Amino acid sequence: MSIIQIVVLIFLSILIAWLLHLLTRKVGGQKKEKPEKPTAPREGKIHPCPICGTLLKSHEKVHSVVYPGENDRLVEVFGCPYCYPANDDYPRTCPVCKEIIPPDGFLIGRMFYSGEKPHMHINGCTRCRKRH
Ligand SMILES: [Zn+2]
Ligand SMILES: [Zn+2]
Repeated sequence: MSIIQIVVLIFLSILIAWLLHLLTRKVGGQKKEKPEKPTAPREGKIHPCPICGTLLKSHEKVHSVVYPGENDRLVEVFGCPYCYPANDDYPRTCPVCKEIIPPDGFLIGRMFYSGEKPHMHINGCTRCRKRH
C-alpha cells in the first residue's frame, strides 16, 4: 500500500464518519419533533349508576327500558355495564328500600320532562313496588 492509498483511506473513513454523524444528527432531530401526543379522550359528564352507584362515563349507558308515553313515562332500569347482568362484584341495591335487588329484578321509575331536560324518578325496585 502506498502512502497515497493510506491517506485516501483515512480521508474516506473521516468522510464516512462525518456522514454517519450527520445521519445520526438528522435522526436525532427527527426524534425531537415528537409526534403530537394523542389527546386523552374527553371524558364526558360522570354520572353514578342508580343501582350499584358506580361512576359511569358518558359512553357507559345504564340499561333501561322506557315505555312510550306523552310526558310521564314508565321506566324500567336494569343496571349499568358493571351491575347488569347481576354479579357479586357490583351489588345491586334499591335506592328506595335499600335492599338487594334480585338478579331478575329491576328498578321501576318514571321519566318526565321538565322543560327540555328529562328527569328520572325512581319509585322502587320489583321487590318493594310489589308490596304496594
Ligand atoms: Zn350499576
Ligand atoms: Zn326497593
